Amino acid sequence: MAHHLNSSVSELPGIGGKAVKDLKNMGIFSVYDLLFYVPFRYDDFSNIKPIAEVKVGETVTVIGSIVSIDSRQAKGRRMTIVDAVIEDETGSLPIIWFNQKYLTETLRPGMKLSFSGRIDFRFGKALMNPVFEPEGKRVHTGRIVPVYGLSGSLTMKRLRTAINSALSATNELVDWVPESIRRKADYTDLSQAIRNVHFPENQKDLTKAIERLKFDELFLHQLLFARSRQDRQKRRSHVIPIDEKVLKTFVAQLPFELTSAQRKTAWEIVQDLAKQNPMNRLLQGDVGSGKTVVAAMAANSVLSNGLAVVYLAPTEILAAQQRAVFNMFLSPHSVALFTRSQKRIGDEDVNKDELLQKLKNSDIRCVVGTHALLEEMVEIPNLAFVIVDEQHRFGVAQRHALLENGREISAHLLSMTATPIPRSLALTVCGDLDISVISQLPKGRKPIGTAIVSANHRAGMWQHVKDQIAKGQQVYVVCPLIDPSDKQGAKSVTDVSEQLKKGPLKEFKVGVLHGRLKSDEKQEAIQKFKDGKTDVLVSTTVVEVGVDVPNATVMVIFGAERFGLAQLHQLRGRVGRSDLVSYCYLLSDDASETALERLRTLEKTQNGFELAEKDLELRGAGNIFGNAQSGFPDFQFATPADVEIMKTAFDWTTKVLNEDPELEKYPLIREKIRSTFEAAHLE
Ligand code: ADP
Ligand code: MG
Repeated sequence: MAHHLNSSVSELPGIGGKAVKDLKNMGIFSVYDLLFYVPFRYDDFSNIKPIAEVKVGETVTVIGSIVSIDSRQAKGRRMTIVDAVIEDETGSLPIIWFNQKYLTETLRPGMKLSFSGRIDFRFGKALMNPVFEPEGKRVHTGRIVPVYGLSGSLTMKRLRTAINSALSATNELVDWVPESIRRKADYTDLSQAIRNVHFPENQKDLTKAIERLKFDELFLHQLLFARSRQDRQKRRSHVIPIDEKVLKTFVAQLPFELTSAQRKTAWEIVQDLAKQNPMNRLLQGDVGSGKTVVAAMAANSVLSNGLAVVYLAPTEILAAQQRAVFNMFLSPHSVALFTRSQKRIGDEDVNKDELLQKLKNSDIRCVVGTHALLEEMVEIPNLAFVIVDEQHRFGVAQRHALLENGREISAHLLSMTATPIPRSLALTVCGDLDISVISQLPKGRKPIGTAIVSANHRAGMWQHVKDQIAKGQQVYVVCPLIDPSDKQGAKSVTDVSEQLKKGPLKEFKVGVLHGRLKSDEKQEAIQKFKDGKTDVLVSTTVVEVGVDVPNATVMVIFGAERFGLAQLHQLRGRVGRSDLVSYCYLLSDDASETALERLRTLEKTQNGFELAEKDLELRGAGNIFGNAQSGFPDFQFATPADVEIMKTAFDWTTKVLNEDPELEKYPLIREKIRSTFEAAHLE
């Protein structure tokens, strides 16, 4: 039966009430949705062999008739084993299935089927837990087979069958990428790409399909950037005239002298603020380069003009910290804190309604907060300036809601990041941004003494840590995990803090911090450390981003080999934030040469950009943007490694828009952009 893109999934074979619900939970309603639900990996069952030729360890497909099938209870274990034997003209082969007793009822001797799986030897040479289907069907066996994420009681076979059947609707897919581009760049058309991403005939077709779908994402992304750039030039913003007196007064009250890089970037920002079109600028600067004060200087200009400022932080810990810093720098303007669990004005906790009211009345014009600010639809009149710390954590649509929602005049946007973005990726990560770089650290910063500490030097290291604490300085200890677990012996916060309290650091006060603590417990742990009430903070990587305690001078990292260089550099950046000499100790359980070589780079360089380049070299592009540090958008296919396709997408975007800025000749592209924006706004 031929299916249609906008039909409900319920018309697909095997998709009844329960499966419909499961799919709905996965955000899949229509045949179209299902076609774009792509495999997360593939099993290559294309190796079809006569039984006599199969070898132990191989993944194969064999076609044979069932000779016998029976089940038994495994000795001592609560497990049912189904034993079968199949044969073809060349020989016979045992099959073993675990816990699938029902098979003795569905499979009968004499049935001829196609089986795919791995040949195992633990129970004698046998095909282990194979999937099977009637010979010649080629949905689950005998080919490269897609493997999908599942939900609820949905089974792989059921989902795969449904998607296979849904492929008949691919003919209705309209390819929004112009044929001229497809031809020149040699891209498969969209229907073909979708068919091949699910059920490719061979690796080459699969690779080509994925390449095409990557291009789709990157091309659309570039077009959206370009549109937003065009759009920005049409929008108006609050004009904040440069007032040298305000700037000078601000600088004069600082407890330190600005670096020339800070001056330069602050100047770029206040110049943008004085323009009639909204700013969209990225402030990039290595850890500890002093981005906060630059942002505060700009915020001060805005507040002095009677307008409002919002600062978005990625975590509650950071929001509270940055609010305190802002409150100090921006005095006498009052800066409020707004997170899910905390609302604060001055030194007082307040309730949500009170704070919302004060913001609405412009009694308070500067607020620092988390995502909660976006979710609550906080009303802030005359919002002129939005600062986003570690920009990537807020999606395009969310930013749009904050900057433009219902406003006649758009807010200026400043994003800040410590992630060094290699030039090759800058196009994709910050296509529509202007960039300012703080290229130097504040004066007096000493390089952070970094050392890999082998097992027999640990006692000496702890002695050194004790000496530092005795001098009144503080120490971070970072562990890969929260709780003890059997995961390859990785060190946990719980383990390590207990050990330290009993052993090396028993005369000192040890605090713990990790993501599973309640929000006020986290806050308390940070505050105690800031106030010097604890000497040592044992933590997960939650301290990775932005936490600023200048009196902390030692960073000890357990399981250092588990982290990327960029991440280790971020962690190390928690110390060396004053003119005190600081240290970073890397403890590794992996003495392999590759692990050590990577860690040695940290011993050798203090420069985030160099480290990012090195990571690129050692681990490939996909890895620099590990986890939360990622500035890379959420694509299904494209990764930061796809530099070539990125460039192609960029070139085509430029070409198309230069020739036809309003996309009059490309209604399908226009429609694609429109529907993407619409979908983003509905989210
Ligand atoms: P980051 O760029 O990593 O966000 P911060 O803004 O948190 O860095 O600044 C790091 C530390 O350096 C803070 O304690 C801050 O007060 C201090 N700092 C910033 N600028 C200077 C400067 N020009 N001279 C001395 N210290 C500075
Ligand atoms: Mg910061």
